[in-house]
Amino acid sequence: MQKNETAIVTIEDIGVNGEGIGKVDGYTLFIKDAVIGDVVEAKVMKAKKNYGYARLMKIITPSKDRVTPVCTFARKCGGCQIQEMSYEQQLQFKHNKVRGNLERIGGFSPELLEKIMEPVVGMEEPFHYRNKAQFPFGTDKEGNPITGFYAGRTHDIIANTDCALGVAVNKEILEKTLSFMKKYQIPSYDENTGKGLIRHALIRYGFTTKEIMVCYVINGKHIPHVEELVETLRELEGMTSITFSSNTKRTNVIMGDSYEIIWGQGYITDYIGDVKYQISPLSFYQVNPVQTDKLYGLALEYADLKGNETVWDLYCGIGTISLFLAQKAKKVYGVEIIPQAIEDAKRNAAINGFENAEFYVGKAEEILPKYYEEYAKTHDGERAHADVIVVDPPRKGCDEILLHTMTEMQPDKIVYVSCDSATLARDLKILCERGYCLERVRAVDQFPMSVHIETVVLLSQQKPDDTIEIDLDLDELDATSAELKATYQEIKDYVLKEFGLKVSSLYISQVKRKCGIEVGENYNLPKSENARVPQCPKEKEEAIKAALEYFAMI
Ligand code: SAH
Repeated sequence: MQKNETAIVTIEDIGVNGEGIGKVDGYTLFIKDAVIGDVVEAKVMKAKKNYGYARLMKIITPSKDRVTPVCTFARKCGGCQIQEMSYEQQLQFKHNKVRGNLERIGGFSPELLEKIMEPVVGMEEPFHYRNKAQFPFGTDKEGNPITGFYAGRTHDIIANTDCALGVAVNKEILEKTLSFMKKYQIPSYDENTGKGLIRHALIRYGFTTKEIMVCYVINGKHIPHVEELVETLRELEGMTSITFSSNTKRTNVIMGDSYEIIWGQGYITDYIGDVKYQISPLSFYQVNPVQTDKLYGLALEYADLKGNETVWDLYCGIGTISLFLAQKAKKVYGVEIIPQAIEDAKRNAAINGFENAEFYVGKAEEILPKYYEEYAKTHDGERAHADVIVVDPPRKGCDEILLHTMTEMQPDKIVYVSCDSATLARDLKILCERGYCLERVRAVDQFPMSVHIETVVLLSQQKPDDTIEIDLDLDELDATSAELKATYQEIKDYVLKEFGLKVSSLYISQVKRKCGIEVGENYNLPKSENARVPQCPKEKEEAIKAALEYFAMI
C-alpha cells in the first residue's frame, strides 16, 4: 500500500502498544485507537515494504469490546492508550502479552504456562486510581494560562484539569492555581523561550490518610503573592504540604534537585497494607496504592515466609517491598542505586519500628556479588545464605552477573516482580537454565487504560530428588547393588560425615557414571527429553569420589 491510500480493515490483533493490527491483501497495518474486532476505514500515513502505520478515519462496525471512553481527550492525550477497549478485554490483552513473551523469549512451553499462569489481578474501579499527577502549564492563543496533559508524543498541552485517572481534588487545585495566576498575571513557563514562571504542578494524595501535597515546579526562586495561593489551597480539606521546587534548567526533567516548604510540612503520609510511608515531592512512590497492595501481597504470598528467613530485596526503591517482607522475615536486606531512596527506606523502616531491615546503596549487580564473595568464600558462610531473593528491576531487567550470583547463592525461592515482561522472560530463561523452575506467574494491572502491566513470578530451586522424574526399576537396582560395595545411603552418610555435605542419589549416579561404574542404563536419567537436570557441583563430586575410593569402588 502507498501513503495516503485508504482501506477497509478488520482488526484481528493488538500490538504491544495497544494499537489495532489488521491486514489488507497480506499487507499489515498498525492502527492506533482501533480495537480488536472493529471494522474500520484507515488511511496509510507511513508505508514500509511489508507493513505500514495508518490513521483511524471511521469506525464502520464497532467491536463488541469497544466502549465509549470516559475522558473526551482519550484519543489525543498521551496518557491512556486503550481507554476505548473494555476493561475485561484490556486484562485479556495484558495476560496474552505476558504469556506471549514468556513463550517466545523465555522458551517456556504453552502447556506449562497454561497450567501455572493465574488470571490478571484487575481493579474493581479502574479509574481515578493514581495518587500522583504532574500537570504541565502553558498558555493558550488568547494568552491565558492553561494546564492539562501533553498530547501523545509531543509537548503540546491539551487543556484538561479533569483527568479520569487522577483523584477528584486535582481539578480543584488546578482551577485555584489558574485563577491565582490570572489574577496576578503570573505567566506559565514557555519551553521554547525558557521564559515564564510556573512549569508544573505535582499533586500527591494519600489514599488512606486523605492528605494532600502540592509542589509547584518553578523557573525561578519564588512565587509572587504566594500567601494568597496558600490561603486558597488551605480551604481544601486534607491539605498538608505546599512546596516549590526550583528548576531553571531548559530540559525535559520535571523536578528540580530540591524543594522548599511554603506551608505545612515537606511530606505526606500514606499506607500500603499496614506499612506507613512518608512521601516527599522527590520521593519515588508507587502511583496506584490499591494495586500495589495486591502486587506486594502476592510477592509476600509467593515468598511464603515463616519468620526465620533471610531475604534480599534487590532494586528496593524506598523499601516498599522490603518492609512488606520485614513483617514476616527474620532479616531483610534491601539494595537500591539512588541514595535518596535509601534514606527514605531507612526512615520508613524506623517510623514503622522495623529493626530487621538493612539497606545498601549501590548497583544490585555490584553489591550482591561483593557481599557473597566476602562471606561465602572467606569467613562467615552463614551470612552468605539467603532463603528468598526478591527482585523488582526497572524495565531493562537484571544484569546477567546478578542473575548468576543469585543462583550461586541457591535461595529456595526467587520472587521476580517485573514491569516489562520481555526482559522478565529473558531473565527467567537464564534462571531456569541455572537450576530454578517456574512455579507461579500472575500479572497485576497497576495501570488500567495503559498498555503497561506488572508481573510477579515465583521460581523455586529445582531439588534433584523432588522434581526429576526418575526411572527407578527395582530389578535393575537389585542387580546393580549386588555388584556394588556400598549402597547409595552409605555413600550419602559417608559424605555427610566426612565433608558435611548432603548429596542426592542423582549426584552419586552422575559421579559413578563419570568414573565408569555401571549404574543401570536408565537409572536417574530424566524421563522426558527436555527436563533440565541439575549437575553435581565440583565440590560434591570430589566428596563423592572420595567416598567411592573409601569403599574401594574406584
Ligand atoms: N521495589 C521498589 C521500586 C522498584 S523500581 C518499590 O516498589 O518501591 C526499580 C528501582 O530500581 C528504582 O528505584 C531504581 O532507582 C532502582 N535501580 C535501577 N537500576 C538499579 C541497579 N542497577 N541496582 C539497584 N537499583 C537499581
